[in-house]
Amino acid sequence: MTTPAGIGHDPHAQLFARAARVTPGGVHSPVRAFRSVGVAPIALTEARGARVWDAEGREYVDWIGAWGPALLGHAHPRVVEAVRRAAGHGLLFGLASPPELELAERVTARVPGCEMVRFVATGTEAAMSALRLARAATGRARVIKFAGGYHGHADAFLIRAGSGAATLGIPDSPGVTAGAARDTCVARYNDLDDVDRCFADGDVAAVFVEPVAGNMGCVPPEPGFLQGLRERCDRHGALLVLDEVITGFRLGPGGAAERFGVRPDLVLLGKALGGGMPLAAFGGRRDVMSRIAPAGPVYQAGTFAAHPLSVAAALAVLDVLDDAPDLYQRLERAGASLERGLRAAAGESRAVQVQRVASMWTVFFAPRPVRSWDDAPAVDRERHAAWFRAMLARGVLLPPSPFECAFVSAAHGEAEMAHTLEAARAAFAEVPA
Ligand code: PLP
Repeated sequence: MTTPAGIGHDPHAQLFARAARVTPGGVHSPVRAFRSVGVAPIALTEARGARVWDAEGREYVDWIGAWGPALLGHAHPRVVEAVRRAAGHGLLFGLASPPELELAERVTARVPGCEMVRFVATGTEAAMSALRLARAATGRARVIKFAGGYHGHADAFLIRAGSGAATLGIPDSPGVTAGAARDTCVARYNDLDDVDRCFADGDVAAVFVEPVAGNMGCVPPEPGFLQGLRERCDRHGALLVLDEVITGFRLGPGGAAERFGVRPDLVLLGKALGGGMPLAAFGGRRDVMSRIAPAGPVYQAGTFAAHPLSVAAALAVLDVLDDAPDLYQRLERAGASLERGLRAAAGESRAVQVQRVASMWTVFFAPRPVRSWDDAPAVDRERHAAWFRAMLARGVLLPPSPFECAFVSAAHGEAEMAHTLEAARAAFAEVPA
């Protein structure tokens, strides 16, 4: 890769100029606009394994992984085949279908604390439905979330919501009412005293937490943090909602709950489960989930819920995971090797933090580790942007934001690692220290 992608290239420039006339910002989700990396966005036309191709035919080693779904790599052949086969039987039934029962049984069997599950289309839906349910189950209104934590774009969560909003400089979105903001208490991640401050005002229905934060870059929970949340929820009669939309099926068969040994009351799933198809879910304690309509009075519904093609894809994802018992060890090894390589490439003297949990990772241009959103101002956005551009020019596609997590997939092999580390050595050398 010799030509910097994106910058002033006519086909892309023309495409996005046209797109901006008919779509806000020219994109259908803000982070795709590359606003924080000082380069024109690229549009992709193909994604296979650990690689993607842009509209001008350039090939990249991809670490965005579609923002998490590509756990097995893009377009895994068994997932694609399952979708193709399912499509042959019809696209959407609007009534129940046997494969969704199999999926519900397999998901509840492997996700800790998930005794019952309901499938939806997106993580946003899963989070807003779980919040309504938590409020109904406790008879309380308030929710605790963490600064830099993202749980989709429902009003209650769009308050200090991490990467997407922060990248655009919109800490709170206009259109979120004062009432919605009032019912949300925002605490500092990894700080149980601050959680106690939120509990002190009472009326807390639930704590929503990303068990490994992925939306302020990869920020691990400190020892005891998740257990401290569990203990406080028990003490105050609030529900602990683990948002495993990123971590579910990625950190191990039972996600973060299993890895960190913390039992949720409700859990949110999405991304990796659908293998690239739109599928998400909320689930949890039987007594709580039984309140969902039609079993109970809490309304929740969806035309595209448990979409047959998404369900087929998810069953194929679980089959692939079941057939590869060493997959999580391989991801861990690949992640560790990448982390070591990136640290070596960055060199001792640079203010660079490589933060990683399993296959989730972020390079922060910061003098100290990032533990919470309070550390975000110390992240050097200019140096990140320069590094992003230098990597892109060498055919390595990273998340176009200093506060997004990158993902190792099962398809990243020796070739992708070597290419990435070689690019990283050159890119670090180009970025001002
Ligand atoms: N929860 C987390 C932790 C996420 O990272 C995301 C999306 O990035 C969501 C929820 C929302 O999911 P979706 O984009 O499918 O609505």
